[in-house]
Amino acid sequence: MADNVGNSDARPDLDLSGEFGEDRPTIDEQEMADAIAGCGEAGVGIPVGHPAGIPIGHPGGHPAGVPMDRQRHGGARSVGFRPGGGEAALAYEQRTGIKAPRIIAWEITRSCNLSCAHCRAAAEFGHYEGELLLDEIKATIDDIVTISNPIIILTGGEPLMRPDIWEIVDYAQAKGAMPVIGTNATLITEDIAAKMAEHKIPRISVSIDFPTADEHDAFRGEPGAFDASIRGIKMAKAHGVGVQINMTVTTLNHTKVEAVHDLAEELGIDAFHIFMLVPTGRGSDLLDKELPPEEYERVLTWAYHRQKTSPLHFKPTDSPHYYRIIRQQAKLEGKKVTREEYGLDAMTRGCLGGITFCFISHTGDIQPCGYFDMQLGNVKEQPFSQIWTESKVFNELRDYSLLKGKCGACEYKAVCGGCRARALEVTGDYLASEPYCAYQPPAWTGECPEA
Ligand code: SF4
Ligand code: SF4
Repeated sequence: MADNVGNSDARPDLDLSGEFGEDRPTIDEQEMADAIAGCGEAGVGIPVGHPAGIPIGHPGGHPAGVPMDRQRHGGARSVGFRPGGGEAALAYEQRTGIKAPRIIAWEITRSCNLSCAHCRAAAEFGHYEGELLLDEIKATIDDIVTISNPIIILTGGEPLMRPDIWEIVDYAQAKGAMPVIGTNATLITEDIAAKMAEHKIPRISVSIDFPTADEHDAFRGEPGAFDASIRGIKMAKAHGVGVQINMTVTTLNHTKVEAVHDLAEELGIDAFHIFMLVPTGRGSDLLDKELPPEEYERVLTWAYHRQKTSPLHFKPTDSPHYYRIIRQQAKLEGKKVTREEYGLDAMTRGCLGGITFCFISHTGDIQPCGYFDMQLGNVKEQPFSQIWTESKVFNELRDYSLLKGKCGACEYKAVCGGCRARALEVTGDYLASEPYCAYQPPAWTGECPEA
């Protein structure tokens, strides 16, 4: 594939010069935040994420607001790391014309001590048949590093329930990747927090959905979960590990986003990522709790403006239309979304599933993201690198000209693209229109949302 970064004429107001050129970005705290929150995971929500990044010394910042030097930082250990910027990745991209994966969310166990209502994995406590063994994980890392040096988000389930997690962390680091952890934080003790620091974990992400214990515990299905998570967060911070709070936004808590933000600020958190519910897994039971498209717009527009004064780094996730909203709001303010003023937000796009991001399940299945309910291969049967390169679905996701319906007609498709997992869940076609976008592209003449 000669060019899988999309049609550049669809993003006329963008400066993407640093996205794929020689000026390959260096990870900094802002990018690390994206990495941990990436799109595709829920509990950590992690999903994670969205790479691209900005070089050290770059002003960075975020929606023309609080500059990087006034934003809180965590994860200094990440500075200087270039996900997908190593020799193997550069050689792979040159050889194949396909971008190397920069962030991989890896569900190293599905076992979890909580039963959260919106969990992508519908995880429960207990052993799951067929989980990748340590040797299989190591062999997969060996293969991954032949094509990239990605950030690997260790998630679950609850990844801290895996007894060999520190061996996995050490192995990934030794091979040149950067492991980070998405956790519910309830299992973090002084000992675990010290281990995170000792094993050079730059940042963890923790899901907090409500500002009070009663509400959060009810949603998480576990009395005491809120207090345990807050305790874990404080311990991690005390040991110098960066912390990001992820909030899954639904009709149950959409009026409490500001309050959770304020709690995060009070706790001295480094980043605040709102996740828009993707109703798959156990979350499909929450279909009626998903915000209507107009309310999505309101929350995402709030995020754009709130970032201007917040010391926390924001990253709306699983809401690719945020990158359309940034440009619309900037236009209203008479601004261009440039790398100088908007940092990473000017350089990345909404959905990176299959483009520079993917998900590996606890049994080794590969998906574009954790919410995208389709297995494209299994690392027990086929090398990761081969699936990344040859999968028809991955290659179709990389070609934005294949998008259908209003996403196909949309002038923002290169920076947004719509959530492919939602399209798949709602229509059965991952290239169909994003069902939760209120925007009507001028070039779209058909009926919405589908065509
Ligand atoms: S129509 Fe599709 S591509 Fe355009 S902004 Fe909405 S979700 Fe994004
Ligand atoms: S398909 Fe949706 S949930 Fe998955 S990475 Fe893309 S935007 Fe995020």
